[in-house]
Amino acid sequence: MNIGVVGLGLIGGSIFKNLLEGKKHSVVGISRSVNEFNVSKDYNNLKGCDIVFVCTPMNVTLEILDKLNDILDEKTIVTDVCSLKEFVSKKSYNYKFIPSHPMAGTEHQGWEYAFPDLFEGATWAVTPKNDTDMKDFEVLKTVIEELGANTILTTPQEHDKAVALISHAPMLVAQALCKNIEDNELAQKLAASGFRDTTRLAMSNVEMANDMVVMNRENIKDVVRILNANIDNLFDSDYKEEAKKIKSFRENLYG
Ligand code: NAP
Repeated sequence: MNIGVVGLGLIGGSIFKNLLEGKKHSVVGISRSVNEFNVSKDYNNLKGCDIVFVCTPMNVTLEILDKLNDILDEKTIVTDVCSLKEFVSKKSYNYKFIPSHPMAGTEHQGWEYAFPDLFEGATWAVTPKNDTDMKDFEVLKTVIEELGANTILTTPQEHDKAVALISHAPMLVAQALCKNIEDNELAQKLAASGFRDTTRLAMSNVEMANDMVVMNRENIKDVVRILNANIDNLFDSDYKEEAKKIKSFRENLYG
């Protein structure tokens, strides 16, 4: 197959490097900054691609998808990799657009940090549109599986709620925990592996973190409300009752 990748940062660069290494497909990259064989600035090089992965920041992805509308025809399958799915799912294009989101990443960004095994064992959410032909989904799924990931089908709305629970709100909470110790030098000195593990998500790519919070704020606010209620419910004026609640909270945790 001919496969195109737009935006060779952490995600796009990792897709590109993996496909290049796999040597199964012919790969073309579109990048403003990477100078490599098979990479150019010219979107016209995507003409004739069977699949195009759009891997740009969320705040520019709609613009890129619009641009592709003038270049690609109805035979090309296009997917994006945005961390949110509802906002990209609203429009229709000349090409076959199947929104998706790989659940893989690191705190780094850019081509230098991209590596071919990033998606090994990862889950890759796909949110087909009403008019998506499932044969096209199967084609996309084959390539996603070659990248090392397993697909999961869902709706854009359910996806955005779920990622608020497992990724976006946890990132904010991690940042809030870091802020908590800002003025306490002793706490900073005592902080060890437990605090580091709990706050790892705080160091997300700043542009992506900002997009996530601004674009998924209602779902994130719901999660923070539930989180506050879960913690508040543990406290009780009766010490014994409180100890019981805390014990059962831990014992009944998911996973
Ligand atoms: P990244 O490392 O910053 O890569 C984004 C790339 O997009 C840049 O390297 C740049 O590539 C290109 N780009 C940036 N601004 C652009 C603009 N104005 N116009 C055109 N191209 C532009 O970020 P990333 O982590 O790969 O994130 C990319 C997408 O993946 C985002 O939509 C994000 O939500 C999603 N995602 C991220 C993660 C994660 O953990 N990082 C996980 C899953 C999904 P060139 O220099 O090559 O043009």
